[in-house]
Amino acid sequence: MANLILILGDQLSTDISALKGADPTNDLIVMAEVGDEASYTNHHKKKLVLLFSAMRHFADHLEREGWKVHYHEYHPDSSFKSLESVVAKQVHSFAPDRVITTECGEWRLHEQISNWPSRLGLPVDIRPDTRFIASKQEFADWASGRKQLRMEYFYREMRRKTGLLMTPEGAPEGGHWNFDADNRKKWSGKPGAPPPFRIEPDKTTQEVITLVDRHFSEHFGTTEDFHFAVTSQDARAALDHFIDFALPCFGDYQDAISDSEDWLFHSILSPYINCGLLDPLEVCEAAAQAWHSGQAPINAVEGFIRQIIGWREFVRGIYWLHMPDYAKENRLGNNRPLPWFYWTGDTRMRCMQKAIDATRRNAYAHHIQRLMVTGNFALLAGVRPEEICDWYLAVYADAYDWVELPNVLGMVMHADGGYLGSKPYAASGKYIQRMSDHCGNCHYKVKKATEEDACPFNALYWHFIDRHRDQFSGNPRMGMMYRNWDRQDPGRKEKIIARAETLLENIEQI
Ligand code: FAD
Ligand code: SF4
Repeated sequence: MANLILILGDQLSTDISALKGADPTNDLIVMAEVGDEASYTNHHKKKLVLLFSAMRHFADHLEREGWKVHYHEYHPDSSFKSLESVVAKQVHSFAPDRVITTECGEWRLHEQISNWPSRLGLPVDIRPDTRFIASKQEFADWASGRKQLRMEYFYREMRRKTGLLMTPEGAPEGGHWNFDADNRKKWSGKPGAPPPFRIEPDKTTQEVITLVDRHFSEHFGTTEDFHFAVTSQDARAALDHFIDFALPCFGDYQDAISDSEDWLFHSILSPYINCGLLDPLEVCEAAAQAWHSGQAPINAVEGFIRQIIGWREFVRGIYWLHMPDYAKENRLGNNRPLPWFYWTGDTRMRCMQKAIDATRRNAYAHHIQRLMVTGNFALLAGVRPEEICDWYLAVYADAYDWVELPNVLGMVMHADGGYLGSKPYAASGKYIQRMSDHCGNCHYKVKKATEEDACPFNALYWHFIDRHRDQFSGNPRMGMMYRNWDRQDPGRKEKIIARAETLLENIEQI
């Protein structure tokens, strides 16, 4: 029996389920860079370079290991624009008995592939993606019968399942499940943040950079200073670099934002984990080992592991449980277009300008910039969920629908009515001032709310609270905010609302 095995650009692992039991002498592996996938959104140029180069390296590796690989390189004039067209051609020439693939990470493509048996006229074996710790069914079973899903409880299940940071008696190491309370320090510049792990582009990557610059010049971002790893070997070196230099401080400064440092103590591993160059469990085991050997404290290691076996698995579970309807949610009724400065960084708000500029240069911004700066602003301004989701999907090297959508639509925009998060992550400028050193360098004054030079986040925050009273005043975690708002002098409240409305009317000029 001969199989055609399709490996997608985010499945770059020899452990991928599509390869299980495969026969190098009989089977054909197909990999393809196609126009439809490269341009269905305005993907950051660095994301395209990362994926095309990593795919080419992976295909070379497979060939060196003795596999037959059909690799379709991107060409703008190619008549093979879709994955289906490439697979159909290979089905025609190679005449396999069936197609095998691992389930993809996106509803759009999942629907297309589900139709292949009838469209291609042969069986298509779509296998579970075993790189995740919880299968889709396991998550659905856990979620079944729960009105609201809370990550913390799911996370504990994943700790028990993996045994990560668990004592032999089944208790959490360090006596607590979660050390988040220790992870909220502002960063004052000391200790110095390590430089990110860098790999200089090799010949393959340089060729891809030329291709992307030539054919995707309209896409967001830049290819300049491309330094991501594009092989699993180099991604492992990036993991080692993180464990040695950043993990010890990861917890303390997890929520910090800096005016001068793009990366702080974050791992910058999501681009590799999400495309298959690194295995999530291997990453967590390396972090746990650092705690066992006394190299990193428990608050750092637990916080890091929670992001991967907790949040990452949780958002994926929600995505597959509720798609395709989840993508249409807009429970706060937002309808404002995405301000253009999200693409240019042309705004006087220092925090926004810095986060967008880092995103443009690096195809990366850390979690708190995504959540509490660009995300918070979109929430307060009432941006249409679809547009802000599309922005996040385009601009980050780690962005795939299954992880981006729940983070943006659920966590940031609260558009799912609180299914993913119990309260919106709405915050005034005070939060950004507490966690960063941006405000001292800003055109706006963070202590002001009503004047022309007042921090926009302040008036917009109260406007958000005021306009969504029906949705949130009954939420026990929001009660204090409503009491604070109601206590304010009516004249001042009027001025705050007027200032917010002026800002919203002139949003492109903020
Ligand atoms: P670290 O801070 O070092 O965290 C370690 C790892 O934990 C990450 O590599 C990632 O694998 C995982 N992780 C942390 N938080 C989350 C989370 N909320 N959801 C899923 N995984 C998480 N992550 C993506 O991988 N792709 C996205 O498209 C994406 N979009 C996001 C959009 C918004 C609005 C927000 C608030 C978060 C988003 N995240 C996304 C989650 C998180 O911001 C990134 O995973 C993280 O910033 C990646 O950088 P890092 O590897 O340095 O992470
Ligand atoms: Fe951002 Fe407001 Fe601080 Fe300026 S003053 S950096 S807009 S929070």
